[in-house]
Amino acid sequence: MRDAQPRASHFIDGAYVEDTEGAEIACIYPATGETIAMLHSATPAIIDKALAAAKRAQKQWAALAPVERGRVLRRAADIIRARNQELSELETLDTGKPIQETLVADATSGADALEYFGGIATTLTGETMQLGSDFAYTLREPLGVCVGIGAWNYPTQIACWKAAPALACGNAMVFKPSEMTPLCALKLAEILIEAGAPAGLFNVVQGYGDVGAALINDGRVDKVSLTGSVPTGRKVYSAAAQGIRHVTMELGGKSPLIIFDDAHIENAVSAAINGNFYSTGQICSNGTRVFVHEGVKAQFLERLVARTRTAIIGDPMDPETQVGPLVSKAQRDKVLGYVEKGKAEGAALLIGGGIPETQKDAGFYIEPTVFDGVTDDMAIAREEIFGPVLSVLAFSDEAEVIARANATEFGLAAGVFTRDLTRAHRVVAALEAGTCWINTYNLTPVEIPFGGVKGSGVGRENARAALDHYSQIKTVYVAMGDVEAAY
Ligand code: NDP
Repeated sequence: MRDAQPRASHFIDGAYVEDTEGAEIACIYPATGETIAMLHSATPAIIDKALAAAKRAQKQWAALAPVERGRVLRRAADIIRARNQELSELETLDTGKPIQETLVADATSGADALEYFGGIATTLTGETMQLGSDFAYTLREPLGVCVGIGAWNYPTQIACWKAAPALACGNAMVFKPSEMTPLCALKLAEILIEAGAPAGLFNVVQGYGDVGAALINDGRVDKVSLTGSVPTGRKVYSAAAQGIRHVTMELGGKSPLIIFDDAHIENAVSAAINGNFYSTGQICSNGTRVFVHEGVKAQFLERLVARTRTAIIGDPMDPETQVGPLVSKAQRDKVLGYVEKGKAEGAALLIGGGIPETQKDAGFYIEPTVFDGVTDDMAIAREEIFGPVLSVLAFSDEAEVIARANATEFGLAAGVFTRDLTRAHRVVAALEAGTCWINTYNLTPVEIPFGGVKGSGVGRENARAALDHYSQIKTVYVAMGDVEAAY
């Protein structure tokens, strides 16, 4: 029996805190279905304590020189890297993702964010505007208390992608993880304290959607950053609007990956595999609509199916395992439901679609799945599945594929494979997506902005762009002469 029980459910004002009055949250290891920790949802008293601590700590933190704030974040990055093995194992227990992924993609990418924003904290500046002899200048100020609400697919990375820019700009944060993956953000809170952050600067409260809603509606909160689905995004955005609060919305997608007939097919297949099956398909930016030019479709499918057949599915703690389970039984039921819908709508199932023979007894596994003959109107081509289900759609013409790629409510990401340089840039320019890749897919280093257009969200995470979403400008007009008045 695995045990990942944290010292307490919440981390507030520099310490673990419990309130057993809150509803129970069972943390389940997706690979076996066993309960590995029991936590409690935040009560109103816990929420109040967290916001009060954040409000107090924010003033103290914002008064520090940026170089000192940056040093704390960079120290936290170093601690994370030193503890990568342990943090990656916890991430695997929290999510079920294979250890070969979590060792390189989770705590490490969180550390990258802390290091990047730790460095950039010192470069936050305003501007001056010369107005004849008068002039004006701007100050870049923190927003205040930020609330972060996370999805379950990348619990460490999401917490770091929100905390790092928020704290670099002088804000404090109260973070609510998904109740399905409550463990990892607590570690970030611990590590920030060890790195020298003041108590109360980064707090973690557990809970279901109602806790998120209570946080957003509190008058002490200045900004809400959500990573979640579009329906949740609608609710959170409109609740934030009641208090005229700043928002960042990192929502879902149904992104196109377009493969032209001059593409390097083996690379395109690699990208389709990474962009559909990594993290068992639970990635918001996945290229789940794979548009393949009809001239190379047979060749592409042959390699895609052959390579998918070799995927090693199994115990996520085994370093050889490449595909782990989905996060929960409910998520697997949802994905299996989409597989049935795909079949019923007439798509051709080429591989996968079921529970792997070797994993029938425990855990929430599902095979990497490829559908061919998918048309734009099918549910599997229109709706976000959030599982390893890849849909192949044939196309013959550039203008046609651009129109079809854009015919969606989402606009998170897109990819283009071609050896024609001008076509690559022309197509990317026409795609309605926040992040585009040419001849690769799903690379999201901290140096580049990430976020969606249309229904996929507002705001950007990572890069300098994130600073605009965690700070605000104060304008100061300075008069150098006398003040004229009509009388
Ligand atoms: P959900 O939208 O179900 O939940 C996201 C978070 O919001 C959870 O912590 C959830 O709590 C909380 N929440 C739910 N209802 C409310 C509410 N009314 N007010 C405040 N908070 C609320 O998303 P999932 O966790 O299922 O994650 C999958 C989704 O996340 C997918 O759509 C995916 O595309 C998207 N995503 C987007 C990313 C991006 O960067 N664009 C990256 C990763 C995922 P609880 O879980 O306790 O209900």
